[in-house]
Amino acid sequence: MKKPPFILLNILVFAITSAIAFIAVPIWAFTVGFSAVEIATTLVLFFFTGMSITAGYHRLWSHKTYQANPIVKVILAIGGAMAVQNSILHWASDHRVHHRHVDVNDKDPYSAKRGFWFSHMGWMLREYQAHRYDNYENCRDLQKDKVVMWQHNHYIWIVLAANFGITAFLGWLNGNILGMVLLAGVFRLVAVHHVTFFINSLAHVWGKQPYTDANSARDNGVVALFTFGEGYHNYHHIFEYDYRNGIRWWQYDPTKWLIRGLSFIGLTWDLRRTPEERIEKAKAKMQLDTATAKLSDLPNAEEVIQKVQLEYDLLMQKMSDYYATKKRMMNVRKKYLKRSFERLELDFKYKELQQAVELQKAKWLKLYHLTTRIELPALPA
Ligand SMILES: [Zn+2]
Ligand SMILES: [Zn+2]
Repeated sequence: MKKPPFILLNILVFAITSAIAFIAVPIWAFTVGFSAVEIATTLVLFFFTGMSITAGYHRLWSHKTYQANPIVKVILAIGGAMAVQNSILHWASDHRVHHRHVDVNDKDPYSAKRGFWFSHMGWMLREYQAHRYDNYENCRDLQKDKVVMWQHNHYIWIVLAANFGITAFLGWLNGNILGMVLLAGVFRLVAVHHVTFFINSLAHVWGKQPYTDANSARDNGVVALFTFGEGYHNYHHIFEYDYRNGIRWWQYDPTKWLIRGLSFIGLTWDLRRTPEERIEKAKAKMQLDTATAKLSDLPNAEEVIQKVQLEYDLLMQKMSDYYATKKRMMNVRKKYLKRSFERLELDFKYKELQQAVELQKAKWLKLYHLTTRIELPALPA
């Protein structure tokens, strides 16, 4: 099949910015040198523009995982334009298709199944999506957002003003315009490009699949380190309406911390989280599938799988009881501030169920590790 024509503008943008970042910037570094102020500004703008994509384009606009104050929106819209990844409207439209048809080569705009290069950058170099380029039907909600439409209609000007205006102004303040534009402008842009592109490429090939193997997305703490927390991509693809990607408090997800932090001062609200019950159950289901697949080659497979299934069913039952009681307890606690008989009784039941679910979980995990590490007997020659 003939490949679609090249998109000249995109190729030029990538080629020129890469040439400056990889050739001009090192030459400048050795001949003129960069000051601490220039390096610090670059780092700040790297986080600002990268997280405008992850917190803004991605978690706010594409997935509506939280609500934000208009001032926050304008700042994220400018930061996102400064990351040069097309307008919010266009980016979100592509991204919603990516989630909907993930890994379907002729639909997913950056399908990882078409290879690393394609999902990283290749998809932007040719007219692969020409048939739906101006079709924003899947973003009707965003078309009502004034900030989104303002950014979409003035995109090129905002890109130019933000990338050259802001960096040149900061350079002027610092006494060297060109040095600042080179490092905080162009070098920072190329860096942000690749780390965010890694979310479509690397985060779909490298890592574990603890929640689902229905798509190629992976969880990887190392990838999270340089993608502003988006390396927990397996979780994200199954629970896309959660404002967090790394759900544990210790998982590096600065985007989640930013969104949460802003909520404390009232600038963001309605932060959506997936109920713990659904997360725990998805994880256990994935373990059941892995264990069953592993066991299916055993000579007494049916019998062993039945036992595993039984423990799994028990775990599901105990989880359902536990979370239902937890929910009831929370409601009662809200209603009766003082201790009441109902509350005491529920507290007791809750603790009992919590213990039961922990016990069953430990039993299940032991069984899971045992079955997945089992050495299968060699087949007779
Ligand atoms: Zn993805
Ligand atoms: Zn997403």
